[in-house]
This record gives sequence, C-alpha cells and structure tokens, in this order.
Amino acid sequence: MPELPEVEFAAAIARKALLGRTIATVTTLHASQRRALPARDARRLAGRCVVRVNRHAKHQHLVLDDGAILAVHFRMNGDWEVGDSTQPLPRFARIVLTCTDGSRLCLVDSRALCAATYHAPGRPPVLALGPEPDALTVDLLGAALARRSGPIKTVLLDQRVVAGLGNIYAAEALWRSRIHPAQPARSLSEAQRRDLVRGIKAAIADGFARQGRYRDGTRERPFRVYDREGETCRRCRADVSRISQAGRSTYFCPSCQRAVSRKRG
Ligand SMILES: [Zn+2]
Repeated sequence: MPELPEVEFAAAIARKALLGRTIATVTTLHASQRRALPARDARRLAGRCVVRVNRHAKHQHLVLDDGAILAVHFRMNGDWEVGDSTQPLPRFARIVLTCTDGSRLCLVDSRALCAATYHAPGRPPVLALGPEPDALTVDLLGAALARRSGPIKTVLLDQRVVAGLGNIYAAEALWRSRIHPAQPARSLSEAQRRDLVRGIKAAIADGFARQGRYRDGTRERPFRVYDREGETCRRCRADVSRISQAGRSTYFCPSCQRAVSRKRG
C-alpha cells in the first residue's frame, strides 16, 4: 500500500502528466468514487489548468488555476497510470482525467477504495497531520506519544503522530529501532524515542532509495521485516513473527525487538 515515498513518486508522475495542461473532462467510473466526486464537481474541473501538485503525507492535491483543489488519496491500492485518449482504459481505472491535448491520467485501483474530492477555491481540505519524517524530532515524537497508552505500532499509524507512515514503514521503523510493536507508546524511554526517530527516517529513506516502487502482491519484497513471517531476521537470524494489531498485520523479530516489561528512564 502506498505510503509517503510511494505517494511522493506518484505525485511526481501526476506533475509530469498534468502541470501546465488543461483538463478537458474528469470521468468517475465507479459508484464509490462518484459519491465522493459527483458529476457536478467533476464538471467544475473541466477547462481548468493544473498549476501545482502538492503532496501532504499520503494526500495529493491537484491545484487548479482558479485555486480549487482536487484532493486524491490512494488508500490501500491506488496508483496513477499515464496514457492518452486513443488507448483503451486500464482495467481498474476509477477516475479518468483527460486533458485538452489528448493526454490522460487514470487513477487505477483494483479495490476501488481510493478517494478524490473537489474543494472549491478558498476552501482547501483540512488535514490533521503531524510532522512528516524529515521534520520529526525526538521532542515532537515525545510530545505526541506522551498521552498515548496504545501499542506503539498502532499509534504510529495515526497521521497526527507522524504524517505519511503506514503499515509497512511503521513495522520497518520499529525493527530498525529494536522496539517491540506492542510496547505502550507512552512508555518509550528517551533513548528508544531517539532510536525510533532515527528508525523512521531510515525506513522512509530506504523507500525513497527504491524509488517508492513497491506494490502488494509482487514477488519483490525488499523489506527488513514487513511481509517476512517465518523468514529469518536480517539482523539476528531468528524467525520473523506476525501478530494482528487493530486489524492490521504487524511483522517483527521477537528476538531483537523484545517486549519491555517496565518503564525505563
Ligand atoms: Zn532479529
């Protein structure tokens, strides 16, 4: 599922496909997208030029020349596919942006969970986001975790704590910092918070180094611990475990990410 590095690379694709071009039509092909982006909103996009594509954590904002914004979130499986209006539509095309020069950008999503919403000029979406990994500090993380008694892995998925992390990079960051995913967030020691900030930045940097091209279901699994249940830990050779937390799979090494039984300074 696309997280910060993947969404940044997707935004770069959208920039290349749309910047300076004028939208001719926007078509929503699936009922769930039509609810979020009804035809009357799609029509407001026609004739507008795309002047910026901004990324905020996992959100992409296509900014139009009248100040309106088409806000896109890929959710679990969304992605862009570039083409032109002479080609057949991709199989899982959900929203199709066709430009006046015939170029086309499709939002493809096999699960149809992606969302695009129209925001009129002067009424941008309100995003409740914490710092992104590159702006994260030990103090900011400490303040965000201070009142959180939930397990650290689940808390890290809250975009108000760190913006842009998802299930993959949260697990990767905890492995890098040798923190057990079930440790209560507010019980992390200063040293653990420092390690975690480093781990988050390193995990995200790793994603950027792969150019963010990861998709579920492919055979390529470049991660340290994510999706490696039963395989050997790349650090200590113990078997990687999987547990369920808040309905999501968490992968970790039970040997080098040991549970902490008491609060440490
Ligand atoms: Zn290990």
